[in-house]
Amino acid sequence: MTKAGGIYIHVPFCQKRCIYCDFYSTTYGQEWKLLYISALKREMCLRRAEIDFARVPSLYIGGGTPTQLPPSLLVEVFQAISENFTFTKDAEVTIEVNPDDVTPELINTLRHTPVNRISMGVQTFSDSILRFLNRRHTSRQALEAVQLFLDAGYNNISLDLIYGLPGQTLESWKRDVMQLLTLDVPHLSAYALSYEDNTPLAEMLRDGRVAEVSDELSWQMYEYLMDETAAAGYEHYEISNFAKPGLHSRHNSSYWDGSPYLGLGPGAHSYDGESVRRSNNTSLDNYVKASADVPHQTEVLASEERYNELVMTRLRTASGLSLQLLSPQQKSHCLQMAEPHVFNGDLLLEDSVLRLSRKGIFISNSIISDLMY
Ligand code: SF4
Repeated sequence: MTKAGGIYIHVPFCQKRCIYCDFYSTTYGQEWKLLYISALKREMCLRRAEIDFARVPSLYIGGGTPTQLPPSLLVEVFQAISENFTFTKDAEVTIEVNPDDVTPELINTLRHTPVNRISMGVQTFSDSILRFLNRRHTSRQALEAVQLFLDAGYNNISLDLIYGLPGQTLESWKRDVMQLLTLDVPHLSAYALSYEDNTPLAEMLRDGRVAEVSDELSWQMYEYLMDETAAAGYEHYEISNFAKPGLHSRHNSSYWDGSPYLGLGPGAHSYDGESVRRSNNTSLDNYVKASADVPHQTEVLASEERYNELVMTRLRTASGLSLQLLSPQQKSHCLQMAEPHVFNGDLLLEDSVLRLSRKGIFISNSIISDLMY
């Protein structure tokens, strides 16, 4: 396996489930959290050699809801990490937090860990939509949580928003964006709502209890977001991600630039940076029962699949897809399929790099699918 790379730890606990979410998590209690920590430590020891454990550039603790682990167990996670891995001096260490879990006690716990970046799922500042989504927090709690972190000196904060939510209007989205910009945090991830199979929200869509927003409204929301974040000094460095200069997410960027990463925990994904992907099974029960390696699937990517992944990931970024990464045959296929999009201005081709134009971003999915095998 290619050495060096980041680490992702999946914490599969939520207090309750949001109706739109298809990430793997359970609402199991304390006893399962203890079992999970033991299994996680075991998996760390077993798999540490899959990356260069002596120089890890980024760690991301996500979920689920990592802050559903009580402080003592969060400390145990970091102890186990420090026993198994050594981070580069400037490593980015992110933890996802839920606004209503943010207390002075949590912040005090985090102070004793290497965490230097906070990712908070705000989703919207509309309380009625938060209730509809079955989110636990209110907009006020989100604002207070951000302030608590800022007061404690955590300036590297990323907030998540969702647009195209049922009940959301262009005006309410504008208020969300404006509210977020007044917080002046250095990073923002904004996702178009996706109706994922097997979620309560997708069932509501099938039953006609909610309706998708029109493409036109979705574009208006996205366009407003792009304009206002640009005016506020954010770089639009990936379709859904915006950052102040120098504060792009290293963890997210490693997914898009094909770096290897080690994913630990049930449901976590790993990549060797070349051709092997691994997915741990989404079962906490089986994860804690495993005596050796945890249940998982491994996939070896054929050259066409690797090309498709390159197109899919690189074209989402502002850096674009360098044709130098492609074999002569792939390059010729790519240029042939890109030609009509370059002609009508949806793709830009400069210095052997293909990039989405502003116009092209709105139809990125269809462009990406056209370029794939
Ligand atoms: S969105 Fe976050 S808090 Fe809500 S169910 Fe999914 S992982 Fe849990």
